[in-house]
Amino acid sequence: MRRLSIGSRLTLWYLAIFAAAQLCLGVGMWLVLRHDLYGVADDALTSQIEDLTTFLKTQKKKNMTVAKLREEASEAYALEHSGDFLQIYDEDGNWIYRAPSLERNQFASAGPAAVKGPSFQDCQVGNKPFRFITQRIDVNGRWYVVRTGVPTDQIAATLSLFRRYLLMLAPLLLLGAASGGYWLSRKALSPVDAITRTARSIGGGNLGDRLEKLTTGDELQRLSDTLNEMLARIEDAFLRVTQFTADASHELRTPISLIRTEAEIALRKSRGNEEYREALRHVLLEAERTSSLVEELLTLARADSGRENLHLTLLDLRSAIAETAAEWRQLVESRNLQFTQAIADCELPVLADRRAVQRLLAILLDNAVKYTPQAGAVELRLEARNDKAVITVRDSGIGIAEQDQKKIFERFYRADKARSRELGGAGIGLAIADWIVQQHRGSIAVQSSIGNGSAFFVEFPLQAASAVLEISQAKMFTDYADNSPERPRG
Ligand code: ADP
Repeated sequence: MRRLSIGSRLTLWYLAIFAAAQLCLGVGMWLVLRHDLYGVADDALTSQIEDLTTFLKTQKKKNMTVAKLREEASEAYALEHSGDFLQIYDEDGNWIYRAPSLERNQFASAGPAAVKGPSFQDCQVGNKPFRFITQRIDVNGRWYVVRTGVPTDQIAATLSLFRRYLLMLAPLLLLGAASGGYWLSRKALSPVDAITRTARSIGGGNLGDRLEKLTTGDELQRLSDTLNEMLARIEDAFLRVTQFTADASHELRTPISLIRTEAEIALRKSRGNEEYREALRHVLLEAERTSSLVEELLTLARADSGRENLHLTLLDLRSAIAETAAEWRQLVESRNLQFTQAIADCELPVLADRRAVQRLLAILLDNAVKYTPQAGAVELRLEARNDKAVITVRDSGIGIAEQDQKKIFERFYRADKARSRELGGAGIGLAIADWIVQQHRGSIAVQSSIGNGSAFFVEFPLQAASAVLEISQAKMFTDYADNSPERPRG
């Protein structure tokens, strides 16, 4: 079933609440009016009782006969308005006065205990509604029971008129409230419709479009601002992806066209074995570069999509660095560069992915070798500084201009394009290094000046001293396992 729109639901709720409030108010007003009108009638009755008391008090003679008292009462009340619905009985049950209008509606005189204070009753006399008061009056050593009443048809008519007006006005008020509520909810929600329309029209082709800026300072403004921020992030990510695709294709085009040209030239005429070998060597070299470029691109793409996960374990950074240094020493020296290393004596426990750290170091050493002319020097240091393990890769190479230093960690950025490309660089290495460092919650920085070489500093947070013990125990166990004689089977 299709749900009602927010506007309609709001209107219905508003209507229900308004109807309930209207009902409570109407009933409340009716009750107050009724209470007040009957209050006026009760006051009139009470004052009649007071008059009667005065009348009875004036009949001083104690032994006045019933007949005499009847006569006196008839004289006082027969022509009076207040006697229209009056009945008086004495303590022996004799009637003293009976209004002719009530001939057919006599009430039996109750005993003195039954009629203590004033009691009010509503009843019908003929077809008319009446309100009666019944009260015992003690006077001159005797007591009397009096009952007098007033017609309440006027009160009933006023109340019924009031009810009729309420019932007539209620639907009109409800209709007004419903239209007002609907208009208000439409007005309040109209920006949501505008947001929906614009959001629907935004696609890959116009990601730069934004929702209309609201200045209402309410939840809707917060919603549109948040959606605009989200669109900006999506656009940013989208641009990064398209830029990455464009850069990657551009980088791949060069080695592939080199391979193609090399093969075309080799096939243009028949050549000797040595020439073919030479051409194939070039093709192989470019193919190797291309596959390592593809590997790097894949790493970045996986990092972006969150699929390149590192497995951080507690390790002594010295062993990972020493291993890579040993592998690189030969290569560095084969390029006629001096290689020095200084690795701290104490254990440096860090939470790290061993292979990623070694890859990071390989990127920095590869750059140092690539951008340092022959007879230069490359230095690798690992030390503890405050609560950080610091790796330094320093070279005496060509250096990096200050304006390039901030950009070299960006993808595909090369300070010297021609030279980097010639050396096989695509400007991705440091972007990968930066990503690896971030995954380790570390930092990477460069210090360099043109002609004076460069120094790259990588910092990893050191783990607590208790971790050192953990590593030593693990090492002792491994050493023991390695050195212990093989146990006989069975
Ligand atoms: P590439 O594969 O081109 O070396 P990187 O991302 O590793 O890409 O480096 C980006 C750029 O930073 C390089 O093209 C180079 O211009 C500069 N660079 C990096 N390391 C050094 C260094 N040790 N000495 C001089 N320039 C460097």
